[in-house]
Amino acid sequence: MSLYDVVVVGGGPAGASAARYSSELGLDTLLVEKRQEVGTPVRCAEGVGKRVEDFIDVDEKFLSKEVVGARIHSPEGRYLEMSDEDAGDEVGYILERKIFDRELFKLAGMAGAETRLRTRATNLTRENGVVEVDLQRNGDLETVRSKIVVGADGVESRIGRFAGIPTNLKLEDIQSCAQYLITDIDVDLDYTHFYVGTDVAPGGYAWIFPKGNNKANVGLGVSPAITDKRASQHLDEFIQNNPELSQGSIIEEVYGGVPVSAPLKELTSDNVMLVGDAARQVNPITGGGIINGMEAGKMAAETAEKAINNENTTKQGLKQYEQKRQKIAKENQKYYKFKEIFQELENQKFNSLIKSLENVNIDELSVAGLVTKIAVKNPWVKDKIQQILKTP
Ligand SMILES: Cc1cc2nc3c(=O)[nH]c(=O)nc-3n(C[C@H](O)[C@H](O)[C@H](O)COP(=O)(O)OP(=O)(O)OC[C@H]3O[C@@H](n4cnc5c(N)ncnc54)[C@H](O)[C@@H]3O)c2cc1C
Repeated sequence: MSLYDVVVVGGGPAGASAARYSSELGLDTLLVEKRQEVGTPVRCAEGVGKRVEDFIDVDEKFLSKEVVGARIHSPEGRYLEMSDEDAGDEVGYILERKIFDRELFKLAGMAGAETRLRTRATNLTRENGVVEVDLQRNGDLETVRSKIVVGADGVESRIGRFAGIPTNLKLEDIQSCAQYLITDIDVDLDYTHFYVGTDVAPGGYAWIFPKGNNKANVGLGVSPAITDKRASQHLDEFIQNNPELSQGSIIEEVYGGVPVSAPLKELTSDNVMLVGDAARQVNPITGGGIINGMEAGKMAAETAEKAINNENTTKQGLKQYEQKRQKIAKENQKYYKFKEIFQELENQKFNSLIKSLENVNIDELSVAGLVTKIAVKNPWVKDKIQQILKTP
Protein backbone atom coordinates (compact mmCIF):
# COMPACT_ATOMS: atom_id res chain seq x y z
CA MET A 1 0.00 0.00 0.00
CA SER A 2 1.43 3.37 -1.01
CA LEU A 3 2.44 5.78 1.77
CA TYR A 4 2.01 9.49 1.09
CA ASP A 5 3.25 12.35 3.22
CA VAL A 6 -0.04 14.22 2.77
CA VAL A 7 -3.46 13.25 1.42
CA VAL A 8 -5.72 16.24 0.83
CA VAL A 9 -9.45 15.51 0.66
CA GLY A 10 -11.36 18.07 -1.45
CA GLY A 11 -10.22 20.01 -4.50
CA GLY A 12 -11.75 23.44 -3.75
CA PRO A 13 -9.60 26.53 -3.06
CA ALA A 14 -8.53 25.35 0.41
CA GLY A 15 -7.59 21.81 -0.66
CA ALA A 16 -5.90 22.81 -3.90
CA SER A 17 -3.87 25.36 -1.97
CA ALA A 18 -2.88 22.80 0.70
CA ALA A 19 -1.80 20.35 -1.99
CA ARG A 20 0.10 22.93 -3.99
CA TYR A 21 2.12 24.26 -1.06
CA SER A 22 2.73 20.74 0.33
CA SER A 23 4.18 19.70 -3.01
CA GLU A 24 6.21 22.87 -3.32
CA LEU A 25 7.70 22.04 0.08
CA GLY A 26 8.76 18.66 -1.26
CA LEU A 27 6.07 16.51 0.36
CA ASP A 28 4.68 13.53 -1.50
CA THR A 29 1.08 14.66 -1.89
CA LEU A 30 -2.19 13.19 -3.16
CA LEU A 31 -5.20 15.46 -3.82
CA VAL A 32 -8.57 13.73 -4.19
CA GLU A 33 -11.81 15.32 -5.39
CA LYS A 34 -15.10 13.47 -5.48
CA ARG A 35 -16.54 15.39 -8.43
CA GLN A 36 -15.66 14.69 -12.03
CA GLU A 37 -14.55 18.26 -12.54
CA VAL A 38 -13.50 20.99 -10.14
CA GLY A 39 -15.25 24.36 -9.98
CA THR A 40 -18.75 23.16 -10.87
CA PRO A 41 -21.44 23.51 -9.84
CA VAL A 42 -20.42 26.94 -8.60
CA ARG A 43 -21.71 27.61 -5.10
CA CYS A 44 -20.39 31.12 -4.75
CA ALA A 45 -20.97 34.81 -5.48
CA GLU A 46 -17.33 34.79 -6.67
CA GLY A 47 -16.17 37.97 -4.92
CA VAL A 48 -12.63 38.22 -3.54
CA GLY A 49 -10.50 41.04 -2.22
CA LYS A 50 -7.23 41.93 -3.86
CA ARG A 51 -5.41 39.97 -1.15
CA VAL A 52 -6.00 36.96 -3.39
CA GLU A 53 -2.85 38.14 -5.18
CA ASP A 54 -0.85 36.86 -2.21
CA PHE A 55 -1.69 33.39 -3.47
CA ILE A 56 -2.11 33.58 -7.23
CA ASP A 57 -1.38 36.01 -10.06
CA VAL A 58 -4.75 37.30 -11.18
CA ASP A 59 -5.26 36.36 -14.79
CA GLU A 60 -7.94 37.53 -17.21
CA LYS A 61 -8.99 33.98 -17.90
CA PHE A 62 -10.57 33.63 -14.44
CA LEU A 63 -11.43 37.28 -13.83
CA SER A 64 -15.00 38.33 -14.65
CA LYS A 65 -14.78 41.89 -13.44
CA GLU A 66 -12.79 44.26 -11.28
CA VAL A 67 -14.90 46.51 -9.03
CA VAL A 68 -13.98 49.81 -7.42
CA GLY A 69 -15.79 49.29 -4.14
CA ALA A 70 -18.94 48.29 -2.32
CA ARG A 71 -22.25 49.98 -1.68
CA ILE A 72 -24.27 48.96 1.35
CA HIS A 73 -27.94 49.79 0.82
CA SER A 74 -30.29 50.45 3.74
CA PRO A 75 -33.96 49.42 3.73
CA GLU A 76 -35.01 53.04 3.07
CA GLY A 77 -32.83 53.24 -0.03
CA ARG A 78 -29.76 55.19 1.13
CA TYR A 79 -26.35 53.71 0.64
CA LEU A 80 -22.90 53.79 2.15
CA GLU A 81 -19.94 53.55 -0.21
CA MET A 82 -16.62 51.90 0.63
CA SER A 83 -13.47 51.46 -1.40
CA ASP A 84 -12.36 47.92 -2.19
CA GLU A 85 -9.56 48.21 0.43
CA ASP A 86 -12.01 48.99 3.22
CA ALA A 87 -14.67 46.57 2.14
CA GLY A 88 -12.77 43.38 3.01
CA ASP A 89 -11.94 40.02 1.53
CA GLU A 90 -14.91 39.73 -0.85
CA VAL A 91 -14.64 43.05 -2.70
CA GLY A 92 -12.13 43.84 -5.46
CA TYR A 93 -12.42 41.09 -8.05
CA ILE A 94 -15.34 39.01 -9.24
CA LEU A 95 -13.95 35.68 -10.33
CA GLU A 96 -15.09 33.07 -12.79
CA ARG A 97 -14.80 30.26 -10.26
CA LYS A 98 -15.32 27.52 -12.81
CA ILE A 99 -11.95 28.53 -14.20
CA PHE A 100 -10.33 29.85 -11.01
CA ASP A 101 -10.82 26.57 -9.12
CA ARG A 102 -9.42 24.60 -12.07
CA GLU A 103 -6.40 26.88 -12.18
CA LEU A 104 -5.72 26.28 -8.49
CA PHE A 105 -6.12 22.53 -9.00
CA LYS A 106 -3.75 22.72 -11.97
CA LEU A 107 -1.18 24.61 -9.90
CA ALA A 108 -1.27 21.78 -7.33
CA GLY A 109 -0.60 19.27 -10.11
CA MET A 110 2.15 21.41 -11.61
CA ALA A 111 3.83 21.63 -8.21
CA GLY A 112 3.99 17.83 -8.18
CA ALA A 113 0.83 16.68 -6.40
CA GLU A 114 -0.85 13.56 -7.70
CA THR A 115 -4.44 14.56 -8.47
CA ARG A 116 -7.44 12.26 -8.74
CA LEU A 117 -10.95 13.29 -9.76
CA ARG A 118 -14.12 11.24 -9.13
CA THR A 119 -12.39 9.93 -6.03
CA ARG A 120 -14.27 10.14 -2.77
CA ALA A 121 -12.70 9.64 0.66
CA THR A 122 -15.14 7.43 2.55
CA ASN A 123 -13.33 6.70 5.80
CA LEU A 124 -10.16 7.25 7.84
CA THR A 125 -8.54 4.88 10.31
CA ARG A 126 -5.35 5.43 12.27
CA GLU A 127 -2.93 2.51 12.27
CA ASN A 128 0.58 2.56 13.75
CA GLY A 129 0.99 6.34 13.55
CA VAL A 130 -0.30 6.75 9.99
CA VAL A 131 -3.78 7.18 8.53
CA GLU A 132 -5.45 4.72 6.22
CA VAL A 133 -7.77 6.58 3.86
CA ASP A 134 -10.48 4.62 2.05
CA LEU A 135 -11.03 5.95 -1.44
CA GLN A 136 -13.87 5.08 -3.75
CA ARG A 137 -13.72 5.61 -7.49
CA ASN A 138 -16.27 4.28 -9.96
CA GLY A 139 -17.42 1.77 -7.36
CA ASP A 140 -13.87 0.46 -6.81
CA LEU A 141 -12.34 0.72 -3.38
CA GLU A 142 -8.71 1.46 -2.61
CA THR A 143 -6.98 2.24 0.65
CA VAL A 144 -3.97 4.55 0.72
CA ARG A 145 -1.80 5.38 3.72
CA SER A 146 -0.65 8.85 4.65
CA LYS A 147 1.34 10.48 7.41
CA ILE A 148 -1.07 13.43 7.38
CA VAL A 149 -4.57 14.04 6.05
CA VAL A 150 -5.83 17.54 5.31
CA GLY A 151 -9.63 17.71 5.39
CA ALA A 152 -10.70 20.34 2.84
CA ASP A 153 -14.03 18.76 2.06
CA GLY A 154 -16.19 21.86 2.36
CA VAL A 155 -19.25 22.79 4.36
CA GLU A 156 -20.61 19.23 4.46
CA SER A 157 -17.26 17.92 5.69
CA ARG A 158 -17.07 14.41 7.07
CA ILE A 159 -13.31 14.29 7.60
CA GLY A 160 -13.64 16.23 10.86
CA ARG A 161 -16.15 13.69 12.14
CA PHE A 162 -14.02 10.73 11.02
CA ALA A 163 -11.05 12.26 12.86
CA GLY A 164 -12.98 13.07 16.05
CA ILE A 165 -12.85 16.87 15.61
CA PRO A 166 -16.21 18.44 16.56
CA THR A 167 -17.49 20.53 13.62
CA ASN A 168 -21.25 20.50 14.20
CA LEU A 169 -23.05 23.74 13.45
CA LYS A 170 -25.97 25.26 15.32
CA LEU A 171 -28.92 26.34 13.18
CA GLU A 172 -28.16 30.03 13.82
CA ASP A 173 -24.61 29.48 12.53
CA ILE A 174 -25.69 28.44 9.05
CA GLN A 175 -26.65 30.80 6.25
CA SER A 176 -28.97 29.34 3.70
CA CYS A 177 -28.20 30.91 0.30
CA ALA A 178 -29.81 31.19 -3.10
CA GLN A 179 -28.32 32.98 -6.09
CA TYR A 180 -29.20 33.54 -9.74
CA LEU A 181 -26.86 34.60 -12.53
CA ILE A 182 -28.92 37.25 -14.32
CA THR A 183 -28.25 38.86 -17.68
CA ASP A 184 -29.39 42.23 -19.05
CA ILE A 185 -29.77 44.04 -15.78
CA ASP A 186 -29.56 47.73 -15.13
CA VAL A 187 -27.60 48.54 -11.96
CA ASP A 188 -24.25 50.24 -11.41
CA LEU A 189 -21.95 47.37 -12.25
CA ASP A 190 -18.72 48.98 -11.09
CA TYR A 191 -19.61 48.22 -7.49
CA THR A 192 -20.66 45.20 -5.52
CA HIS A 193 -23.97 45.92 -3.84
CA PHE A 194 -25.13 44.66 -0.45
CA TYR A 195 -28.73 45.09 0.73
CA VAL A 196 -29.55 44.77 4.41
CA GLY A 197 -32.86 44.69 6.24
CA THR A 198 -35.30 42.23 7.73
CA ASP A 199 -37.64 42.36 4.72
CA VAL A 200 -34.90 41.57 2.21
CA ALA A 201 -32.85 38.90 3.97
CA PRO A 202 -33.65 38.09 7.62
CA GLY A 203 -30.38 37.40 9.46
CA GLY A 204 -28.29 37.95 6.35
CA TYR A 205 -28.07 40.21 3.31
CA ALA A 206 -28.73 40.27 -0.41
CA TRP A 207 -26.01 40.94 -2.94
CA ILE A 208 -25.43 41.94 -6.53
CA PHE A 209 -21.92 41.02 -7.71
CA PRO A 210 -21.28 42.20 -11.27
CA LYS A 211 -19.75 39.77 -13.74
CA GLY A 212 -19.31 42.12 -16.72
CA ASN A 213 -21.45 42.40 -19.88
CA ASN A 214 -24.51 43.43 -17.86
CA LYS A 215 -24.52 40.13 -16.00
CA ALA A 216 -24.43 39.72 -12.25
CA ASN A 217 -24.67 37.17 -9.48
CA VAL A 218 -27.78 38.21 -7.58
CA GLY A 219 -28.32 36.31 -4.38
CA LEU A 220 -28.95 36.32 -0.71
CA GLY A 221 -28.30 34.44 2.49
CA VAL A 222 -30.81 34.13 5.30
CA SER A 223 -30.68 32.60 8.75
CA PRO A 224 -33.00 29.56 8.87
CA ALA A 225 -33.23 30.20 12.63
CA ILE A 226 -35.00 33.50 11.89
CA THR A 227 -37.15 32.87 8.80
CA ASP A 228 -39.45 29.99 7.86
CA LYS A 229 -39.28 30.87 4.16
CA ARG A 230 -36.71 29.31 1.86
CA ALA A 231 -33.82 31.47 0.66
CA SER A 232 -35.13 31.13 -2.91
CA GLN A 233 -38.50 32.63 -1.87
CA HIS A 234 -36.75 35.64 -0.36
CA LEU A 235 -34.63 35.97 -3.48
CA ASP A 236 -37.64 35.85 -5.81
CA GLU A 237 -39.28 38.60 -3.76
CA PHE A 238 -36.09 40.71 -3.80
CA ILE A 239 -35.91 40.44 -7.58
CA GLN A 240 -39.62 41.16 -8.09
CA ASN A 241 -39.28 44.30 -5.96
CA ASN A 242 -36.37 45.58 -8.07
CA PRO A 243 -37.45 46.29 -11.65
CA GLU A 244 -33.82 46.78 -12.74
CA LEU A 245 -33.28 43.10 -11.86
CA SER A 246 -36.63 41.58 -12.81
CA GLN A 247 -36.25 42.72 -16.42
CA GLY A 248 -33.25 40.37 -16.84
CA SER A 249 -33.09 36.65 -17.64
CA ILE A 250 -31.93 34.04 -15.16
CA ILE A 251 -29.34 31.76 -16.75
CA GLU A 252 -28.04 29.84 -13.73
CA GLU A 253 -29.29 29.00 -10.23
CA VAL A 254 -27.11 28.26 -7.22
CA TYR A 255 -28.10 26.99 -3.77
CA GLY A 256 -25.88 26.25 -0.82
CA GLY A 257 -25.15 26.61 2.85
CA VAL A 258 -22.42 28.73 4.38
CA PRO A 259 -21.02 28.06 7.86
CA VAL A 260 -21.04 31.35 9.79
CA SER A 261 -20.00 30.14 13.22
CA ALA A 262 -17.46 31.40 15.70
CA PRO A 263 -14.02 29.80 15.18
CA LEU A 264 -13.87 26.16 16.24
CA LYS A 265 -11.86 25.29 19.34
CA GLU A 266 -9.65 22.78 17.56
CA LEU A 267 -8.91 21.97 13.97
CA THR A 268 -6.43 19.16 14.51
CA SER A 269 -6.28 15.65 15.86
CA ASP A 270 -3.52 13.07 15.47
CA ASN A 271 -2.41 13.15 11.80
CA VAL A 272 -5.34 15.34 10.68
CA MET A 273 -5.87 19.06 10.01
CA LEU A 274 -9.02 20.79 8.74
CA VAL A 275 -8.98 23.80 6.42
CA GLY A 276 -11.49 26.09 4.67
CA ASP A 277 -15.23 25.54 5.02
CA ALA A 278 -14.57 22.14 6.58
CA ALA A 279 -12.82 24.07 9.37
CA ARG A 280 -15.59 26.75 9.44
CA GLN A 281 -13.08 29.47 8.51
CA VAL A 282 -15.61 31.58 6.63
CA ASN A 283 -16.00 35.21 7.67
CA PRO A 284 -19.22 34.96 9.75
CA ILE A 285 -20.53 38.35 8.72
CA THR A 286 -19.85 38.34 4.97
CA GLY A 287 -19.90 34.58 4.31
CA GLY A 288 -16.66 34.89 2.30
CA GLY A 289 -14.36 31.91 2.61
CA ILE A 290 -12.17 31.68 -0.49
CA ILE A 291 -9.15 33.61 0.74
CA ASN A 292 -9.25 32.27 4.31
CA GLY A 293 -9.41 28.75 2.87
CA MET A 294 -6.40 29.33 0.64
CA GLU A 295 -4.43 30.86 3.47
CA ALA A 296 -5.31 28.00 5.83
CA GLY A 297 -4.26 25.50 3.14
CA LYS A 298 -0.85 27.13 3.03
CA MET A 299 -0.58 27.12 6.83
CA ALA A 300 -1.49 23.42 6.93
CA ALA A 301 1.15 22.61 4.30
CA GLU A 302 3.87 24.46 6.24
CA THR A 303 2.85 22.62 9.40
CA ALA A 304 2.85 19.25 7.61
CA GLU A 305 6.41 19.81 6.42
CA LYS A 306 7.59 20.66 9.92
CA ALA A 307 5.74 17.77 11.58
CA ILE A 308 7.08 15.25 9.08
CA ASN A 309 10.65 16.55 9.44
CA ASN A 310 10.27 16.28 13.23
CA GLU A 311 8.77 12.78 12.84
CA ASN A 312 5.87 13.87 15.01
CA THR A 313 2.52 13.95 13.24
CA THR A 314 0.43 13.62 16.40
CA LYS A 315 -1.93 16.40 17.44
CA GLN A 316 0.96 17.81 19.47
CA GLY A 317 3.21 17.72 16.41
CA LEU A 318 0.59 19.67 14.42
CA LYS A 319 0.23 22.45 17.00
CA GLN A 320 1.95 24.94 14.70
CA TYR A 321 -1.23 24.90 12.58
CA GLU A 322 -3.35 25.73 15.63
CA GLN A 323 -1.04 28.68 16.30
CA LYS A 324 -0.88 29.95 12.73
CA ARG A 325 -4.60 29.71 12.12
CA GLN A 326 -5.26 32.04 15.09
CA LYS A 327 -4.71 34.89 12.62
CA ILE A 328 -7.93 33.87 10.86
CA ALA A 329 -9.69 32.85 14.09
CA LYS A 330 -9.08 36.18 15.86
CA GLU A 331 -10.54 38.16 12.96
CA ASN A 332 -13.49 35.81 12.65
CA GLN A 333 -14.20 35.95 16.37
CA LYS A 334 -14.67 39.72 16.05
CA TYR A 335 -16.82 39.36 12.95
CA TYR A 336 -18.92 36.77 14.75
CA LYS A 337 -19.69 39.28 17.48
CA PHE A 338 -20.63 41.87 14.86
CA LYS A 339 -22.88 39.26 13.28
CA GLU A 340 -24.67 38.80 16.59
CA ILE A 341 -25.45 42.55 16.68
CA PHE A 342 -26.31 42.68 13.00
CA GLN A 343 -28.71 39.71 13.09
CA GLU A 344 -30.91 41.37 15.70
CA LEU A 345 -31.25 44.74 13.97
CA GLU A 346 -34.62 46.01 12.84
CA ASN A 347 -34.96 47.99 9.59
CA GLN A 348 -35.12 51.27 11.47
CA LYS A 349 -31.72 50.62 13.07
CA PHE A 350 -30.14 49.65 9.76
CA ASN A 351 -31.52 52.91 8.34
CA SER A 352 -30.11 54.88 11.24
CA LEU A 353 -26.64 53.27 11.00
CA ILE A 354 -26.28 53.90 7.29
CA LYS A 355 -27.74 57.40 7.52
CA SER A 356 -25.21 58.29 10.23
CA LEU A 357 -22.38 57.60 7.79
CA GLU A 358 -23.84 59.52 4.90
CA ASN A 359 -21.39 62.11 3.56
CA VAL A 360 -18.61 60.61 5.69
CA ASN A 361 -15.45 59.64 3.86
CA ILE A 362 -14.90 56.25 5.42
CA ASP A 363 -11.58 55.77 3.61
CA GLU A 364 -10.11 58.66 5.60
CA LEU A 365 -11.26 57.43 9.01
CA SER A 366 -9.44 55.25 11.48
CA VAL A 367 -11.48 52.49 13.10
CA ALA A 368 -11.79 54.63 16.24
CA GLY A 369 -12.97 57.57 14.13
CA LEU A 370 -15.54 55.40 12.42
CA VAL A 371 -16.89 54.09 15.71
CA THR A 372 -17.15 57.63 17.04
CA LYS A 373 -19.12 58.76 14.00
CA ILE A 374 -21.49 55.82 14.37
CA ALA A 375 -21.81 56.20 18.14
CA VAL A 376 -22.74 59.90 18.05
CA LYS A 377 -25.95 59.11 16.20
CA ASN A 378 -26.46 55.52 17.40
CA PRO A 379 -25.57 55.45 21.11
CA TRP A 380 -27.34 52.06 21.51
CA VAL A 381 -24.53 50.37 19.56
CA LYS A 382 -21.52 52.27 20.91
CA ASP A 383 -20.70 50.04 23.89
CA LYS A 384 -21.11 46.83 21.95
CA ILE A 385 -18.80 47.97 19.15
CA GLN A 386 -16.18 49.31 21.53
CA GLN A 387 -16.20 46.05 23.48
CA ILE A 388 -15.65 44.04 20.30
CA LEU A 389 -12.84 46.26 19.11
CA LYS A 390 -11.09 46.01 22.46
CA THR A 391 -10.91 42.19 22.18
CA PRO A 392 -7.27 41.37 21.41
C1 LIG B 1 -24.15 31.18 -2.38
C2 LIG B 1 -22.73 31.32 -1.88
C3 LIG B 1 -22.03 32.48 -2.15
C4 LIG B 1 -20.70 32.62 -1.71
N1 LIG B 1 -20.02 33.76 -2.07
C5 LIG B 1 -18.73 33.90 -1.70
C6 LIG B 1 -17.97 35.02 -2.14
O1 LIG B 1 -18.46 35.88 -2.87
N2 LIG B 1 -16.68 35.12 -1.73
C7 LIG B 1 -16.10 34.18 -0.95
O2 LIG B 1 -14.91 34.35 -0.60
N3 LIG B 1 -16.79 33.10 -0.55
C8 LIG B 1 -18.08 32.92 -0.92
N4 LIG B 1 -18.77 31.80 -0.54
C9 LIG B 1 -18.07 30.79 0.27
C10 LIG B 1 -17.07 30.02 -0.59
O3 LIG B 1 -17.74 29.47 -1.70
C11 LIG B 1 -16.42 28.93 0.24
O4 LIG B 1 -15.95 29.51 1.45
C12 LIG B 1 -15.24 28.29 -0.48
O5 LIG B 1 -15.64 27.61 -1.63
C13 LIG B 1 -14.57 27.32 0.49
O6 LIG B 1 -13.55 26.60 -0.15
P1 LIG B 1 -13.20 25.13 0.33
O7 LIG B 1 -12.10 24.67 -0.53
O8 LIG B 1 -13.06 25.10 1.81
O9 LIG B 1 -14.53 24.27 0.05
P2 LIG B 1 -15.26 23.94 -1.32
O10 LIG B 1 -15.03 24.97 -2.33
O11 LIG B 1 -16.66 23.61 -0.94
O12 LIG B 1 -14.53 22.61 -1.80
C14 LIG B 1 -14.71 21.39 -1.12
C15 LIG B 1 -14.46 20.28 -2.14
O13 LIG B 1 -14.39 19.03 -1.46
C16 LIG B 1 -15.00 18.06 -2.28
N5 LIG B 1 -15.36 16.93 -1.40
C17 LIG B 1 -16.28 16.92 -0.41
N6 LIG B 1 -16.28 15.72 0.22
C18 LIG B 1 -15.32 14.96 -0.38
C19 LIG B 1 -14.86 13.63 -0.18
N7 LIG B 1 -15.36 12.85 0.78
N8 LIG B 1 -13.89 13.15 -0.98
C20 LIG B 1 -13.35 13.94 -1.96
N9 LIG B 1 -13.77 15.22 -2.21
C21 LIG B 1 -14.73 15.72 -1.42
C22 LIG B 1 -16.20 18.79 -2.87
O14 LIG B 1 -16.68 18.16 -4.03
C23 LIG B 1 -15.59 20.16 -3.16
O15 LIG B 1 -15.05 20.25 -4.45
C24 LIG B 1 -20.08 31.61 -0.95
C25 LIG B 1 -20.80 30.44 -0.65
C26 LIG B 1 -22.10 30.29 -1.11
C27 LIG B 1 -22.85 29.02 -0.81
